[in-house]
Amino acid sequence: MIHIIAFGEMLAEFMAERIDQRLDEPGSFRGPFPSGAPVIFADQAARQGARVKYIGHLGADAFGDAIHDRLVQAGVDVGCVKRELLPTGTAFVTYASDGSRSFVFNVTASASGRLGRDSIRDDVLQGCQYLHVMGSTLNNDGAIKAVDALLSQAEAFGVKVSFDPNVRVEMLQFEPMAAALRKVFERCHVFLPSETDLEFFYPGLSLEEAIAQCLQRDQLEWVALKLGNGGCRYIDRNQSLHAKPFPVTEVDPTGAGDCFGGTFMAAIAQGFEPQRALHLANAAGALAVTRLGPMEGNSTPDQLNAFLQEDLRNDRQIA
Ligand code: ATP
Ligand code: MG
Repeated sequence: MIHIIAFGEMLAEFMAERIDQRLDEPGSFRGPFPSGAPVIFADQAARQGARVKYIGHLGADAFGDAIHDRLVQAGVDVGCVKRELLPTGTAFVTYASDGSRSFVFNVTASASGRLGRDSIRDDVLQGCQYLHVMGSTLNNDGAIKAVDALLSQAEAFGVKVSFDPNVRVEMLQFEPMAAALRKVFERCHVFLPSETDLEFFYPGLSLEEAIAQCLQRDQLEWVALKLGNGGCRYIDRNQSLHAKPFPVTEVDPTGAGDCFGGTFMAAIAQGFEPQRALHLANAAGALAVTRLGPMEGNSTPDQLNAFLQEDLRNDRQIA
């Protein structure tokens, strides 16, 4: 039985080597790194022991091979990953000294842009536990049609929906995206926002007010809130937990949220209590930011245990 279905953009990422390097003049980049928010999530969930199936599109090129092989190595079922006669999607990213990032994406015109209604087999969700949706995926019409088909199927087969909104203001220039994000939010059972995501859904409300509003929705059962270097929280109708951050040296924050989500959902799907799931996800997110590359800091249970042991030895967790 498949625990989790993930789907969406599959990208080769290239990272500028120098801070404040520009994207409109020559410079050195490191890559290709396998990337795309749902790919990072799926890789981590599988590494953490969940049975994960991926739906997406790769080019029949070397970048596609790299991403395909990486998912296979993690144990992800790639039976629904199609190879296309188009280049694999790419992302070029540069970091500024103020901590901001700039991107050049090629998603819609790449193999990744082939995601659409036809990507979704009619029974693909049958017998699955969770459908995981990444908000960043909903940035073109085909992807929105695919998510519509998956949400209908989830309802028909009684599959629960987990949702990481991953709202990127630049992406909202594609106008249908905002409505698509709200639609998934209305249907989700497990919600994995950051503070910025909550502001998108509940502008003008405080964090606590926004969380209270979330839990007004009948369907929504669990909220796992990502707080960056502030750790994370878990809230349901009976309890509210705060996990303090593990003190680490942040090398590259990219992908921490996706790694957090993959860990949390893998733990939940395998029957762990939310408190344990939150602890593991908090640790996996912290470990992720210590490595350069979008998913180079993803971890197996052994690697996560080693990190937790080290933390205990150093008595490092902030009290
Ligand atoms: P993104 O979408 O860019 O991946 P996000 O906003 O979804 O990011 P973050 O809050 O940045 O996700 O990271 C997820 C979790 O990882 C945090 O809630 C925390 O548990 C852990 N984490 C992230 N950054 C740090 C850090 N600097 N120190 C300790 N833990 C961190
Ligand atoms: Mg995120």
